[in-house]
Amino acid sequence: MSISKIELVDKLAVTNQLQDEEMAELLKFRNKETTEYLFNQALKTKEKYYDKKIFIRGTIELSNYCKNNCYYCGLQRNNNFITRFRLDENDIMKYCLDGYDKGIRTFVLTSGDDYYFTENKVADIISMIKSSFPDCIVQLCLGERPASSYKKWFDVGATRYLLWHETANDSHFKKIHPPDMSLLKRKQALWRLKETGYQVGSGFMVGTPYQTVADVVEDLSFIKTLNPQIVHISPFLPTVHTRFEHERSGNGDMTLYLMGIVRLMLPRVLLTADPTLENVIPDARRKSFAAGVNEVFASLAPDEVKNYFNVYNKRHNIKNCSGDDVTRMCQKIEESNNIVAVEAGDYIYPPKEEKLYGQIHRIMRP
Ligand code: SF4
Repeated sequence: MSISKIELVDKLAVTNQLQDEEMAELLKFRNKETTEYLFNQALKTKEKYYDKKIFIRGTIELSNYCKNNCYYCGLQRNNNFITRFRLDENDIMKYCLDGYDKGIRTFVLTSGDDYYFTENKVADIISMIKSSFPDCIVQLCLGERPASSYKKWFDVGATRYLLWHETANDSHFKKIHPPDMSLLKRKQALWRLKETGYQVGSGFMVGTPYQTVADVVEDLSFIKTLNPQIVHISPFLPTVHTRFEHERSGNGDMTLYLMGIVRLMLPRVLLTADPTLENVIPDARRKSFAAGVNEVFASLAPDEVKNYFNVYNKRHNIKNCSGDDVTRMCQKIEESNNIVAVEAGDYIYPPKEEKLYGQIHRIMRP
């Protein structure tokens, strides 16, 4: 007798995993009843570890230069239609100070793969931030870099690193990236970041061209194996001046559904709602909180910087994708009956016994 979708959700909630065929079934036959039940379980799980807290991470966009040419991304090197910018140290420190005054305790330094920001330059910026704001976390999102850079930045005080794997299937990866990029290298970088000691974030887009259900199952399986501390799932948005600009956006309901699944797979994870979700689903932030999300981005840079980073198609009324400002974000969290948490808000590691149980469970698993 085949197992019902509700039973699959129960199994996921208890064991934190499903067989690939079961996961595919849960994805293919999504319905209202299963979705409500999944979100219910996901919310309970989130609140068990994080209560009603939603952490706000302050984003500072360092640069929109990038050496890569990912086919879906408006920051790609070959896009000559956008105005490029880089911040200097004074701007970065000013935005940190503004954010700090509003209560932000995590600064996310993000950019394309821009080697203008060398290993030493980034190390100096991290050191400056840590010496001015010792109670704050520096979180990096600077792309694939050599192991020595990851180590140096960790040694001077950065403790979280975000690097989306984008898709865990090699054939799909090749369809949305140019030949000089490699999924193997991306995965190796993620493992290296973990070994270095970072709290690592990974994730993927929902609805990218050529994506299949089997690809999404592989994404979830990779996330389960990597066991990152942060997961970020966002809908694909067609971006002007890219080869995918006339494709359809990813499905917002499916994105939320996947957030619920990830919350049950990794109960303690810091699960992020991306600002792009607002473009495919109304009232997206509140709905994502109800699906198990517990962190959001708020941009600390002024509008002119955000607009340079906002590379989607303005002709189609795409809203700001860098994140609301801190004040607006606080309002949204409070309106959803959650608690604004501007504190550093690290991942809650399991106690040793639970880790040991996990290892025994894995060894005994058929
Ligand atoms: S997705 Fe990242 S690495 Fe790829 S082109 Fe855009 S900014 Fe560069």
